This record gives sequence, C-alpha cells and structure tokens, in this order.
Amino acid sequence: MKTSLQGRVAIVTGGTGGIGMAICRQLADSGARVATNYRSEEKLKKAQEAGKGYAFYFFKADVTDFDSCKQFVEAVEKDVGPVDILVNCAGITRDTTLRKMTREQWDSVLTTNLDSVFNMSRHVVQGMTDRGFGRIINISSVNGQKGQLGQTNYSAAKAGMHGFTMALAQEVARKGVTVNTVSPGYIATDMVMAVPEDIRKQIIAQIPVGRLGRPEEIACVVDFLCAPEAAFITGADISANGGQHMM
Ligand code: NDP
Repeated sequence: MKTSLQGRVAIVTGGTGGIGMAICRQLADSGARVATNYRSEEKLKKAQEAGKGYAFYFFKADVTDFDSCKQFVEAVEKDVGPVDILVNCAGITRDTTLRKMTREQWDSVLTTNLDSVFNMSRHVVQGMTDRGFGRIINISSVNGQKGQLGQTNYSAAKAGMHGFTMALAQEVARKGVTVNTVSPGYIATDMVMAVPEDIRKQIIAQIPVGRLGRPEEIACVVDFLCAPEAAFITGADISANGGQHMM
C-alpha cells in the first residue's frame, strides 16, 4: 500500500459507478479514508460488494440538491473528519440531437454534471482554505473538450466543469488548495456499455490505443493529483483518452 494520502479524508461522488468506485479504491489504497454517496439501497448493496475489503463510508445524497450535499459534507466531517479531497465524479448522459432534446433532458444533465460541482465544492472549500490544504478534482469528459453530436447537454456541462475548475483554482491557489479537471475518453463502465454494440465498435475504431479505457486508468490520474507532490498542478485539464483527442 502506498501511503501518500495517509490521514487524508476524501469524498468521491458517484462511488456506486464504475469510475467512482475505482477512484474510491485507489485513494483508499494510498491511505485516505474515503466517503461516497449512494441514492438507492440496491446500488448501495452493489457498491458494498464492489468495495469488499475496503472500509468505505457510505452516505445517502443527491448531488443535484444543494441541501443534500450540505448534509452529506456535514455528515462526513462529523463521522470521518475534515474533508481534504473532493472528487466530483457523479454524472449522467441523456443523449439526443438538439432538435429532439426535451427541457428535462437538458436540465437533468446540467444539474447532475455541473450544478453538482457547485453544490459539493461550496461546502468544502472554506475548510480546505482554512486548513491550508485541499484537492478538488472534477471528472469531465473528452466530449466536453471536443463536443459530440447528440450531446449538446453533456458537452456543455462537461466544458462548464472545466471553466469552474480554472476560476476556482485562481481563487484558492495561495491557500494550498488545487483544483483540476480530469477528462476521460471512453471507459468500459455501465455508462458506455449501455451504448449499442455497433456504435461502441465505431467509437473504439477512433481510439488510437485501440480499446476502451479502464476505470483504474482514470483513478491513477486522480490519485496522482491528490499527492502532496502535485501541489504545483492547478487549473489543469488532464486528458486520459487513449489518444482519441490531442490538445
Ligand atoms: P456510471 O453510470 O457507472 O456512474 C455514475 C455515478 O453517478 C453513479 O454512482 C450514479 O449513482 C451517480 N449519480 C448520478 N446521478 C446522481 C445524483 N443525482 N446524485 C448522486 N449521484 C448520482 O458512470 P461512470 O462511472 O462511467 O462515469 C463517472 C463519471 O465519469 C461521470 O461524470 C461521467 O460523465 C464521466 N465520464 C465517463 C466516461 C465513460 O466512458 N464511462 C467518459 C468520460 C467521462 P446511481 O448509481 O445512484 O445512479
């Protein structure tokens, strides 16, 4: 076990999902105490199974709800300790062309992927700056960097996350707090496996590495950004996309 995050407390949203669970495991392997959220008892059970062998702290919370996030952070601070690391990983897609997109499809993607970053960060940032250490990492997407047809909602939300990253990074830079974006390409999780197989094959054909990414390949980037040695990296958008999009 690495120990660079020994004594740190981390919140990872979306820990019941593929990438979120991999991040929870990786940060715990580096010594952090890790809290995450769930929404349904069914998903909680699945996540507990996936996190077997780890002592994760699970709290019920909805990242689209500002007060729910406040209660989540307060509960973590009470039961686990002051929050040093926040990974905003919860997200959804509701793909369709703009001509067919409903107001609900727009709103749900914007509130889940983008409002959530405000809802969570707002409740941890003061404590981090007061204590002189913090890491906020926003999980965006290659499609926030390059746009993707059928994803005006998702691409807008994910690009917005990085705008948030750059602005907040400047606000807290002198207080030992870094804020960064990680932009994964296509990763083999439920979100991508829900895409029809023929479309998935077309996507893989566009990835120079020739395969989907693994959740652990995103988790290791997050872990790296959390380390004390990463203190000079802030406001960055780090791509992990198998070469699909090079900036
Ligand atoms: P999953 O669908 O496996 O996981 C998504 C997670 O977000 C789940 O834990 C889900 O909880 C949670 N979530 C969704 N809505 C809410 C909400 N309102 N409140 C709290 N939690 C919520 O997706 P991935 O693991 O693949 O994706 C994780 C992140 O990575 C997302 O932000 C996604 O946009 C991004 N990403 C993923 C890529 C991929 O190829 N997979 C590529 C690029 C970016 P629940 O189980 O309750 O629904």
